[in-house]
Amino acid sequence: MTMEANNGVSGYIHSVESFGGVDGPGVRYIVFLQGCPLRCIYCHNPDSRKMSVGILTNSASVAEEIEGYIPFIKNGGVTLSGGEPLAQPEFAADILRRCKDMGLHTALDTSGYGGTVAVLKVLKYTDLVLLDIKAYSGKLYTAVTGMSEDKAKALLEMCEKLAIKVRIRHVVVPGYTDEPNEEQMLARYLSKFNCIDRVEPIPFHKMGEYKWKDIDEEYELYGTPEADEKTMDKVKEIFTREGLKL
Ligand code: SF4
Repeated sequence: MTMEANNGVSGYIHSVESFGGVDGPGVRYIVFLQGCPLRCIYCHNPDSRKMSVGILTNSASVAEEIEGYIPFIKNGGVTLSGGEPLAQPEFAADILRRCKDMGLHTALDTSGYGGTVAVLKVLKYTDLVLLDIKAYSGKLYTAVTGMSEDKAKALLEMCEKLAIKVRIRHVVVPGYTDEPNEEQMLARYLSKFNCIDRVEPIPFHKMGEYKWKDIDEEYELYGTPEADEKTMDKVKEIFTREGLKL
């Protein structure tokens, strides 16, 4: 990643979606940044994890493209997703800065996996964080991502201090993250944060399974069922009992 005089900051993207409807309020332009240090066993975009296979571009070009969509997204905004946008903090921050200069609402769809300095750079230009919390306990978090949960929790604490609105996402995977005690600990932990606007439990699904066939990593969940309605209802009940808004 380098600074260039006229083109802003260079970085890698995976793809874009010009009329996104689920990653933040209103109609949104979504930029999927390439690269993610996590190794979630249920990753639905495993092709976005390896940085070197992304499309090299720069923040000025990305912002210029977004500018053309302002008439459609002016009541929605722009979301940076991934991969993990915090894996390229200067690039992400410069795209969001340019979006704020255009008067657009900005959202960051993240697992929280970034260093403090890097995260603060990006949060400076972020209106809403969509934080994907994989699990509460370190043991389970590591089992499903290969990493420690510390950075996700640190990001949530930073948002609380900076009063940045957070929407929590949490994937419910049968046999892994649907365990009631785990969900109870997560719900209790989340209930302490005023910055959390609402929590969105997401059922594990198999729609991205085919993508694993094209990458050089083993998929462990071929035999795992999708999270059914009963499982989701149980999880939702735990969250609402702790006073969290769904
Ligand atoms: S954080 Fe997202 S992109 Fe990264 S491995 Fe997990 S699910 Fe995949």
